[in-house]
Amino acid sequence: MIVVVAFHAAGAVKSRLEELGFRVEEALAGGRAVLCGSGADELLHLDHLKQLRAWEGVEEVHFSQPSTKVVGQESRIVDLGEGVLIGGDAIVIMAGPCTIESESQIFATAEAVAHAGATVLRGGAYKPSTSPYSFRGMGVKGLELIAAAGKRFGLKVITEVMDPRKVDLVAQHSDILQIGARNMQNYDLLHEVGQSSKPVLLKRGLSARYEEWLMAAEHVASSGNEQIILCERGIRSFESGTRNMLDLASVPVMKELAKLPVIVDPSQATGKRDLIAPMSLAAIAAGADGLLIEVHVNPEQAIKDGAQSLAPAQFEALVPQVQAVAGALGRSVLLPVVA
Ligand code: PEP
Ligand code: MN
Repeated sequence: MIVVVAFHAAGAVKSRLEELGFRVEEALAGGRAVLCGSGADELLHLDHLKQLRAWEGVEEVHFSQPSTKVVGQESRIVDLGEGVLIGGDAIVIMAGPCTIESESQIFATAEAVAHAGATVLRGGAYKPSTSPYSFRGMGVKGLELIAAAGKRFGLKVITEVMDPRKVDLVAQHSDILQIGARNMQNYDLLHEVGQSSKPVLLKRGLSARYEEWLMAAEHVASSGNEQIILCERGIRSFESGTRNMLDLASVPVMKELAKLPVIVDPSQATGKRDLIAPMSLAAIAAGADGLLIEVHVNPEQAIKDGAQSLAPAQFEALVPQVQAVAGALGRSVLLPVVA
């Protein structure tokens, strides 16, 4: 690490670094000292080192070690079992309603998306609603319904968990634990899913920078669970023409930084049905390893997010287009074994 400090204060800072186990070399430049510390683990002393900024005379503190110890070390493929791998050559399509509404709705949607080419069924049983007066999900009944629908049609299941106390319950009914955008920095929740044996899908926070998203993944990974999928779902911007701003640059950036699979959710990103197909194709072109798309048997009757949900026929028309773009990149789309 490098600390730039006023000459008169250099001795005290140097001693502090040495106390922490660093070897310190000192150079003088323009009335200031540049201290170069090496030989100790910066992350082990993170708080002490950050606090150097509060020390008299200290002007700059630069870390030289990466900010993560687990994420970004090696490329990872997430294995859902039965040949469903995320982050390999094959693109995985996850589809289903925003929220589970009834047995007939989730079963009909599951059948339609399995038939069209999805391998994972999505649907929320616990919904993070902005208004407390909005539908907040079916809870345990919803979990049971989505698990049964997934099983019936040979689909893996993804559903959101919001409460650290419900991680085990949700994990019993789901193949992937979804952490929603609003909870990306809920560290207690991240640590709890970090102790689960189920893979975690970590959505990007509404205004999260790449580094913050990366560090959220590190919270999960450092708690023991390295089976993490990142999901870009759009961020807040000044533009009001779409629900969020879909940042597709995050796909190659985060794949490189985190070395984790990255998928894209064009539904939350755009808020508009007509934009789902073009943005899905753009996501695959940008290198996404999968898509998370809202599909509803009858979008006009959806309790939530109908405007950003595809009808089954629209979803069915999109899958071959995704295959064509994937094929152009030497990739394929993983297709389900429909029961
Ligand atoms: C959702 O997937 O329905 C959802 C609420 O997503 P996000 O957390 O990205 O807003
Ligand atoms: Mn939704």
